[in-house]
Amino acid sequence: MEYVKCDLCSSDKHEPVAHQTDRLHRTTEEVFTVVRCAQCGLHFTNPRPTPAEIGRYYAAGYAFHASAPSWRRRLDRILDWAANGPLAGLAAPLPVLAKRLAARVRPSVTDPVLRFYREGGQGTFLDIGCGAGIHAHFWGAESALQSCHRRVDVAGVEISETARAALTEAGIRCWPDLSSVPPEENFGLIRMNWSLEHVHSPREYFSFIARHLSSEGQAIITVPNYSGLIYRLAPDCVELPVHLYHFRPEDIVAYAGEHGLSAVEVKTFSYPEMFRAAAEAGLLPSEFSSHLGIVKAKALLDFMKPLDDLGWGNDMLVVLKKTQLAIKAERDA
Ligand SMILES: [Zn+2]
Repeated sequence: MEYVKCDLCSSDKHEPVAHQTDRLHRTTEEVFTVVRCAQCGLHFTNPRPTPAEIGRYYAAGYAFHASAPSWRRRLDRILDWAANGPLAGLAAPLPVLAKRLAARVRPSVTDPVLRFYREGGQGTFLDIGCGAGIHAHFWGAESALQSCHRRVDVAGVEISETARAALTEAGIRCWPDLSSVPPEENFGLIRMNWSLEHVHSPREYFSFIARHLSSEGQAIITVPNYSGLIYRLAPDCVELPVHLYHFRPEDIVAYAGEHGLSAVEVKTFSYPEMFRAAAEAGLLPSEFSSHLGIVKAKALLDFMKPLDDLGWGNDMLVVLKKTQLAIKAERDA
């Protein structure tokens, strides 16, 4: 374990806001603490496992590194379509199906990768924490590396050796960490899908983005939103110890500002499955887990929509680009 200062402002003054063990993956019974920086307000896990220790807190087959057979991917796509299409309510009388579909109900958030290239964006797409490149978390397969590879130049950074082997086999360039990426590489689009909360120093990632993003490029960051409703109800409803940071939108914006980046979009959103999963792990009252069928899931989604727009969604998407000042400074250098 290591005790750390605030990664954003370097202050060593902070106060505890929550204590929790690994309720989700059950890798340990140790209790961890989330603290709030007294100077800038950043929330982080402290003390925390060192980079050498963190591996043992990742359950075997941690979802995002897994590869899946193609029949499974096809079935996933069909279920996603059914859950979010106009006919989802038809499954209501069939409890088993209704429950499976409920788990897949999600808000409509435009995929920022597909949008970037559709609107004429140029340059290589780098996905940091890309797994085997077959699934882009919330957005499914279409903006995962293996699918994008057919249309644009892509590359990945991925810590898992198995996942990297799958990428290499698919003909996709990949590196195990940021420091292995050649300094002259330049990217039109850099994405970090739910990975920044896992890293030991977010600052290093912003610095990397500032050095490797093209002047017309965009960086896409998605992370849980610690200002979200679920965390307001239960500040200890966090994935510990693998989440080392618990960001609010203003924290991402502050990091970006220090690196010559500005936010062109900040959006928070929620999906019903998260409430059920948190309740099942004992992190929220059990009412949330009691048979969240398709009808209730859709109602919860509708209930959350105005809160999402207020910034109370449980997850967030931030799109960054270089500031004019940073672009000018680079040209002059
Ligand atoms: Zn701070």
